[in-house]
Amino acid sequence: MNATNAELFARAQAAIPGGVNSPVRAFRSVGGTPRFLVSAKGAYVTDAEGRDYVDLVAGWGPAILGHADPRVVEAVQDAAARGLSFGSSTPAETELAELVEARVAPVEQLRLVSTGTEATMSAIRLARGFTGRDLLVKFAGHYHGHSDGLLAEAGSGLATFALPGSAGVPADIAALTLVVPYNDLDALAAVFAEHGDRIAAVIVEAAAANMGVVPPAPGFNRALVELAHANGALVISDEVLTGFRVSASGWWGREARHEASAYTPDLMTFGKVIGGGMPVAALGGRAEIMQRLAPLGPVYQAGTLSGNPVAVAAGIATLRGADAEVYAKLDAAAETISEATSAALAAEGVAHRVQRAGNLFSFVFGEALATAEVRDYATVLRQESWRYAPFFHAMLDQGVSLPPSVFEAWFVTAAHDDAAIARIVDALPAAARAAAAA
Ligand code: PMP
Repeated sequence: MNATNAELFARAQAAIPGGVNSPVRAFRSVGGTPRFLVSAKGAYVTDAEGRDYVDLVAGWGPAILGHADPRVVEAVQDAAARGLSFGSSTPAETELAELVEARVAPVEQLRLVSTGTEATMSAIRLARGFTGRDLLVKFAGHYHGHSDGLLAEAGSGLATFALPGSAGVPADIAALTLVVPYNDLDALAAVFAEHGDRIAAVIVEAAAANMGVVPPAPGFNRALVELAHANGALVISDEVLTGFRVSASGWWGREARHEASAYTPDLMTFGKVIGGGMPVAALGGRAEIMQRLAPLGPVYQAGTLSGNPVAVAAGIATLRGADAEVYAKLDAAAETISEATSAALAAEGVAHRVQRAGNLFSFVFGEALATAEVRDYATVLRQESWRYAPFFHAMLDQGVSLPPSVFEAWFVTAAHDDAAIARIVDALPAAARAAAAA
């Protein structure tokens, strides 16, 4: 007999803090036993008890082609057979950099790292080294990984667990981060008016998706870049989550299509899709800035596993596979699933609002939020978040795996075909009833 999820969780909790290697996986905000997964294919994941689920987590974003896409698996197997890690340059690293640079014009040069946390941490060091300034501006509810300076009023797990920041961050380091409400240009201008000549950079999720989805107001990114540049500060646009998911050229590419919203960040960060499910992330941007990195410049940054050949192979195969048809499928699946969910909630009288940024979406609950635009973290926190846990569990019981927190985006893949979507749609009425009864 295979071990049950509950048995595996008990054993994991003895060996690993909280039984997990990343907090949101623990189901703390939705309750119950996390599923221990043993395999994934296409739109489905399978747990240790042999149950399968239509997956709307997609590894938290990377699996745009669907899990274990044959092209990606084959690329990984071929690379692995040629050696797991060389600690030396490989032709494939340049190929991945060129693929990104061809898609995202502000990226003239790219440096590969292994996690999104490393990418943003390194981008901030680079911005500080380039400008000779210390302060960093971030937005409330935005998540940029878990480095010391970035945990103040952050989204993702910190939103899920209602944490204002993290223990263990020295006050002197936290004091270098100024937090501003999202989509509030007046507040940003006020911070620049007060500290302008000390601000090295503004870091921003290109479209916020770690407090649930909260898109930028039209023109916000553009105005933010103008304001920062007028004050001699850089802009780091974090596309770890949106990059190569919401379009072939990420959120940047969606806004670049229109003169009124087009913007050019100085630095950008990527992760998730760029590694196709393997540990690849990157920072990139203007060559003049990027060339301040070691070995050319004085800003140090390095990594034993950076540009790992097996991981890079997965990233290249994923980006190559992500053609126009894939993005059309992602958009269509997001449209169908978000509309069906909204209709099911409405049918049960659950006041809610669909939050969308391209093919990323989530829901906020409550009468107060249903009627007006949701543009910032303070508003997101006012929702009836308790309605999510029963909704989540009703879906899980019917074989649909949602993100285990109301403060996370739902992720579709190009493998979400009619059968997968039908299972989701069939599960919605019971889940909406559970949300209504909460
Ligand atoms: N930035 C953003 C926008 C993210 O969504 C995340 C992770 N969800 C990160 C940075 C951190 O990436 P990682 O978990 O790979 O460290």
